[in-house]
Amino acid sequence: MPMLSKNSPITFQAKLPEEVDVVIIGAGIIGISTAWFLMKDGLSVLVCEKGRVGGEQSTRNWGWVRQMGRDEAELPIIAESLNIWDSIAGEIGEDIGFTRKGLLFLAENEKDQKDFEEWMEIAKRHQLDTRILSAAELGKKLNYTEHRWKGAMYTPSDGRSEPSIAVPAIARAAQRAGIRIIENCAVRTTETQAGVVSGVITELGTVRANAVVCAGGAWSSAFLANLGVTFPQLLVKGTVVRTSAVSEGYAGGAGSYKFSFRRRQDGGYTLSLGNYLDHSLCADSFRYFTDFLPALKMTWSGTRLRCDDGLLKRLFPTRRWEGDEVTPFEQTRVLNPTPNLRVVRKIQQLMASNLPILAKAQIEETWAGIIDAPPDFVPVMDEIPNYKNLFLASGFSGHGFGIGPGAGKVMATLVQGKQIDFDLSRFRFSRFSDGSPLILGPAL
Ligand SMILES: Cc1cc2nc3c(=O)[nH]c(=O)nc-3n(C[C@H](O)[C@H](O)[C@H](O)COP(=O)(O)OP(=O)(O)OC[C@H]3O[C@@H](n4cnc5c(N)ncnc54)[C@H](O)[C@@H]3O)c2cc1C
Repeated sequence: MPMLSKNSPITFQAKLPEEVDVVIIGAGIIGISTAWFLMKDGLSVLVCEKGRVGGEQSTRNWGWVRQMGRDEAELPIIAESLNIWDSIAGEIGEDIGFTRKGLLFLAENEKDQKDFEEWMEIAKRHQLDTRILSAAELGKKLNYTEHRWKGAMYTPSDGRSEPSIAVPAIARAAQRAGIRIIENCAVRTTETQAGVVSGVITELGTVRANAVVCAGGAWSSAFLANLGVTFPQLLVKGTVVRTSAVSEGYAGGAGSYKFSFRRRQDGGYTLSLGNYLDHSLCADSFRYFTDFLPALKMTWSGTRLRCDDGLLKRLFPTRRWEGDEVTPFEQTRVLNPTPNLRVVRKIQQLMASNLPILAKAQIEETWAGIIDAPPDFVPVMDEIPNYKNLFLASGFSGHGFGIGPGAGKVMATLVQGKQIDFDLSRFRFSRFSDGSPLILGPAL
């Protein structure tokens, strides 16, 4: 299925209500999942999407649904998320390609193996089925005679889903259940009454609400900056390739920092160059330079800095606007970056040597997606301090798809002020400003 763009037909329309219980900004996996769980609790919900449902990260990702290698604080939430993935297709009555076929982290060298051994301690603490595979065991699993990798870390209960199918399908079910979802409906700003957030101003009009959840992915920082709230967030581009169908092959996902592959429901593979990412220089590169310095050191070998087209515009972006002005959200309906052709060529060169079954496969589609990340690579799930009733669920870095349904459930609980079973202190908004030391999570 080709990637969504601003020219893709609008499929979600509704009349803008005057008032709802909760407005969600953004129809990615996080926004749609939050809406889904609020609806189940009986609340009226409006989801405003500036472009197309799932048009940005949530349909462009690799489709890994993984526990393995995560920040420890995320593990209880991904466990919940996996349970939701297991049951949601039955609940919505549409196949979304979810299956638990296992995921592999491949060791290119001894350092990777050592890192895997260290992460096994976390796996044991959380009773995961993760285990270390020798090079020979891995070769057997991949039907591979050569020992291309030193070994692997393997989690059989991890899964994969089809991003381009899953989010629109859940959104359709949400719509059938009464949630209003409106595409081409940018939220420009919030409204407040006596210092409390009381609704939103969209490009189509104003809506009153008891709570607003910003699930704007790569746009959350800009949305909050207009309100005078600083949310450090940087954007990197990942390039992805889809191959034609091949007969039999490893049915799960596998990857190292050099190359990654994931079996698709259509019989092809989704491929990428591990952690190779492009960052286009922009005003935020300089604004948040010191916040991101530790993260940059950690990801330096995989990140390329770019001075590409539109640099001037990116260096001087519009940061402030009023509710009656056209905003950057309307000017870029769908973030649809150009894939890095060097990456595509490199993937083509590496395909057959990394997974011999791909020797006969053709590249059928290429695309890119923009990943949003805060300086420590773990998301924010919190109410914004001093902005009562405004919640943020953003910064899921390279791993928000799998945890999305679980995170949506967490957000729905938070918004209603109900008791939460998870420790969310790691995901608090104030960590960027309360003087606490930055604790880096696993890189993108
Ligand atoms: C190449 C790539 C590979 C990845 N691989 C994986 C993977 O294998 N597994 C995994 O778990 N994660 C992966 N990720 C990360 C994952 O895709 C993201 O973390 C997740 O999709 C984030 O979801 P989201 O809903 O926060 O953001 P998005 O999906 O980006 O959705 C945000 C939405 O908000 C809308 N919006 C923003 N501002 C406004 C506004 N003011 N008004 C109205 N609408 C607005 C946007 O248009 C957008 O549709 C990958 C990401 C990429 C790009």
